[in-house]
Amino acid sequence: MLRCCVGLGLLLAACSSARPVALASGEAVRLASDLVVRRLAEHVYVVTHEKPWPANSVVVEARDGTLVLVGSPYTTEATERVLAWLGERFGTRKRVAIDTHFHDDAGIGGNLAFHGAGIPIYGSALTVRLLSERRQEPGVPPDHVFELEQGLELPLGEPVRVVFPGPGHTADNVVVFFPQKRLMVGGCLIKAGSTIGNVADADLAHWAASVRKLDGYDFDVLVPGHGERFDRGMLEKHDPFDRDRRRQVGLVTHCHFDDFNRAPH
Ligand SMILES: [Zn+2]
Ligand SMILES: [Zn+2]
Repeated sequence: MLRCCVGLGLLLAACSSARPVALASGEAVRLASDLVVRRLAEHVYVVTHEKPWPANSVVVEARDGTLVLVGSPYTTEATERVLAWLGERFGTRKRVAIDTHFHDDAGIGGNLAFHGAGIPIYGSALTVRLLSERRQEPGVPPDHVFELEQGLELPLGEPVRVVFPGPGHTADNVVVFFPQKRLMVGGCLIKAGSTIGNVADADLAHWAASVRKLDGYDFDVLVPGHGERFDRGMLEKHDPFDRDRRRQVGLVTHCHFDDFNRAPH
């Protein structure tokens, strides 16, 4: 009897240590020491790669079952871990990836993993150009290219719209709008943290106007490229010309410019 109980205990321990694959809303699962997936809403998952600076990418289960990966972790290895977890969670699915600009956390960092998994990678012609012109190691560019100003609509049982609201964090930053899910993935145009982040490639003169363009879209959930806030209320204070933010920009460019350049985000 004792042996039986010990055996049962070991079995329960093994079960409880297994990674959960079906997450309740708000529940999180850690895929690596610096990599967390949390369920933000029904069919919407936020992947946070915590190093070198916490960055959000998003996985959305579209109505036709396609998994839409907006952005990626910074690295191939972390992206492969996410793809492996998605395989456990969803089984075999059609997948598409969207590069939101030419930095690593925008999808570029995951493109080698996406390419290796046979996942089509959507990105703008300007992203392709900036990768070759501005990056020392351009890496794998998107292989399904659209014109930035025209944007893109993917029919995946529901419309998935890639929109260029104007330059801000970079000249090529796009947002991805899921109108039926009332979800806007803001990418690095939107920051929820107390600092404005990497401005090495930013257009500070037009950033605020580009953010204001999002006011015209109907959504409830807004996912920033960095930070822990997920409601559209953050748009109200999102002004790079705000005095506090200008001071932060000065600090960021003065203190951390080299670090940011080593790991574009
Ligand atoms: Zn960036
Ligand atoms: Zn970023």
